[in-house]
Amino acid sequence: MNISHHFDDATLMAYAAGTLSQGMALVVACHLHWCPECMKRVKQAEAVGGALLDNINPVAVSDSALDNLLASLDDVPPAAVEKVEAVKPTQSDLPYPLSTYLDKPLDDLPWKWIGYGMYQVDLNFGGKGAARLFKLAPGVSVPHHTHTGNELTLILRGSYSDEIGRFRRGDVADLDSDVLHQPIVDTGEDCICLIATDAPLKFTGIMGRLIQPFVGL
Ligand SMILES: [Zn+2]
Repeated sequence: MNISHHFDDATLMAYAAGTLSQGMALVVACHLHWCPECMKRVKQAEAVGGALLDNINPVAVSDSALDNLLASLDDVPPAAVEKVEAVKPTQSDLPYPLSTYLDKPLDDLPWKWIGYGMYQVDLNFGGKGAARLFKLAPGVSVPHHTHTGNELTLILRGSYSDEIGRFRRGDVADLDSDVLHQPIVDTGEDCICLIATDAPLKFTGIMGRLIQPFVGL
C-alpha cells in the first residue's frame, strides 16, 4: 500500500498515552494496521513514556490505590486494547480493528442516505467521540466545513482531493479546527471513509447548513 498522508505526532502520542476517544483510537489503530511508519513512531512514543515512568521516584500511596487502579482498568476502551492486536492477518479488505466492529462486508451495511450522494453508518460508540463510516458517490463534492474539534479520517476505498492534497486508500487526514476544506471525490468509484470526531462538524456554506441536520455530527 502506498501511503502518503500520516497522523501528526501529537495524535500518535495521544494514542500511545491512551487519551484518545474510542472512535479516534479506532481510526488510529486501523491506520497502524496498514502503516509501518506510524506504527514505528507509536512504539517510539511508548518507549519514551516507559523510560519516563522508570525515572519517577516512588512515593507513598494510600491503601486503596491498587484497588482504584484495578477498577480503572475496567474502563479501558476496546480500541486501546486492540492496538496490540493490530498486526493480526485479516480475511477481508478491511483493517483488522475495524472488522471486529462490523458484522457484514462494507457493501452490505445499512447505509443511511443523508443527501447529495452521501451515506453514513454510525458505529454508535456514544459519549463524546462519534465514529462513522461515510460513503460518497463518485464526483461528489462535500460542502465546505470546518471542525469545532479534531477530526480523524481514514480512507478505506476510493479517493478524494481537497485543499490539502489527494487522499487514497490507507491515507489519513488529521484535521483540527483551523482547517476549512471541501473534499471532492474522484470519479472512478465510491469513496468510503472511517471518520471520528471529538466535536460536531460546522458546515459554513448555504448547502452545508442545509445538510447539517441530516449529518447529525
Ligand atoms: Zn502512517
